Amino acid sequence: MSHIKKILIANRGEIAVRVIRTAKRLGIKTVAVYSDADQDSLYVKLADEAIHIGPPEPRLSYLNQEMILKACEDSGADAVHPGYGFLSENAEFAEKLSVKGIKFLGPKPSSIRAMGDKIGSRLLVAKFDVPIVPGYEGEDQSMDRFKKEADKIGYPIMAKASAGGGGKGMRRVESASELEEMILSAKREALSAFGDDRILLEKYISNPRHVEFQIFGDQHGNVIHLHERDCSLQRRHQKVIEETPAPHYPASLKEQMAKAAVQAAKSVSYEGAGTVEFILGEKGEFYFLEMNTRLQVEHPVTEMTTGLDLVELQIRVAEGGKLPETPEQTGHAIEVRIYAEDPSNGFLPSIGKVHALQFPTGEGVRVDSGIVSGSEISLYYDPMIAKLIVWDETRTKAIDKLVQVLKETIVFGPITNISFLKNLADAKGFREGKVSTHFIAGNEEELLRQNVSFPVRLALAGLAGAETKITDPWVSSGESA
Ligand code: ADP
Ligand code: ADP
Ligand code: MG
Repeated sequence: MSHIKKILIANRGEIAVRVIRTAKRLGIKTVAVYSDADQDSLYVKLADEAIHIGPPEPRLSYLNQEMILKACEDSGADAVHPGYGFLSENAEFAEKLSVKGIKFLGPKPSSIRAMGDKIGSRLLVAKFDVPIVPGYEGEDQSMDRFKKEADKIGYPIMAKASAGGGGKGMRRVESASELEEMILSAKREALSAFGDDRILLEKYISNPRHVEFQIFGDQHGNVIHLHERDCSLQRRHQKVIEETPAPHYPASLKEQMAKAAVQAAKSVSYEGAGTVEFILGEKGEFYFLEMNTRLQVEHPVTEMTTGLDLVELQIRVAEGGKLPETPEQTGHAIEVRIYAEDPSNGFLPSIGKVHALQFPTGEGVRVDSGIVSGSEISLYYDPMIAKLIVWDETRTKAIDKLVQVLKETIVFGPITNISFLKNLADAKGFREGKVSTHFIAGNEEELLRQNVSFPVRLALAGLAGAETKITDPWVSSGESA
């Protein structure tokens, strides 16, 4: 076992801060890399060293493998944490690191490759008795063949980019008449986002839930699961609220899904942290969606209910350590993603300076953020401000706490989705655990109409734009109503 001494974080923002926290606790040195846009970022200040890697455009900085490899050499880092997004699922990058004798805090390049492709991973896990959504993933990508296969599967269907991620390159197709148009538009989006326009077709599972399993593998052939996360509350196939345990989730179903998740990870001899995502139908039928070969955005809910530090576990596994047994879960944890976006304007990003920021603190409240007062939300990156995570003994108590802390959260500057999240957390259907991936779209009008404090936020944002001095009274001005 060789201990890691210095980790370079090939990422930015909240996840860079998150990794630095654990590294500091373990006495491991950290190196931040930053673009021109991130020069004054919190994570850059927190790291022991910081290296400039280029202009704001991700292609020229956070995705620039040569610059990051050079930063590794210059700093003498012996490991790289890729975070999520950017190079985290890039097998080529992981390979280049290994050639230089630098540890990649993620799985083997072969596992990344096998799971990075939705077509390939479906075929692979199916051989290991993991159920996949009925569909078509053949090499024949002609429109005629797609039409025939879609008829066989039956409408509605989901056309997906094989290389897709983050909800991109995916189209729901209602009937044969719109198939061609939808496939062509999914292909266009996939080509520009991933440089690969291969498409697969899946049966559209109606009113489903998204339930995923946190997986860990070590170098000794052990693969364990760390329970499930329900991420059914989504907007445009992107997660908005995540929780664990999944509500209304029978133990027998959990057992079957956990087994399938471990099998999927074993199909690629998985090492490190990963997530196996499933879609769960209304009758309890479940199918493999994909495996994300990295730490997931929503990993904190797993940490809060297991007491484990998943970044520490990634480090230990990379050092050659052995995994523990699957721990019991205690209580209930929920995460919301706070974004600089405008719910009443199509959730368009709301960029600009964050003049003031106030997060509540207290028992069972965790805030993961890379933003501080004075930070700039730029158009170059994901406009996430923070992840707010609450824990309590029961789901009801956790929801009550979530609603309360959202009321006490104040962002002065850009427009945010905080009121929207509060309405969502407080919605009757969510409280009852009647969650599905259609919940938000089905209730959007109501979730927006109840958005009482929005005008207040807008006024504040306007004042902030005018550089008005911020004083305390705002905090109690009804902003938190
Ligand atoms: P996660 O739960 O980590 O978001 P997904 O599979 O939904 O998992 O997302 C895949 C990756 O896509 C994430 O690592 C995230 O960084 C990235 N991502 C999320 N939203 C977007 C977006 N709007 N545009 C581009 N990438 C995104
Ligand atoms: P990504 O890589 O973009 O995360 P996924 O395959 O994980 O793509 O799907 C993202 C989301 O899209 C799922 O969580 C679910 O809400 C929806 N989805 C995916 N496949 C289907 C399907 N066959 N039927 C219904 N909804 C689906
Ligand atoms: Mg997914």
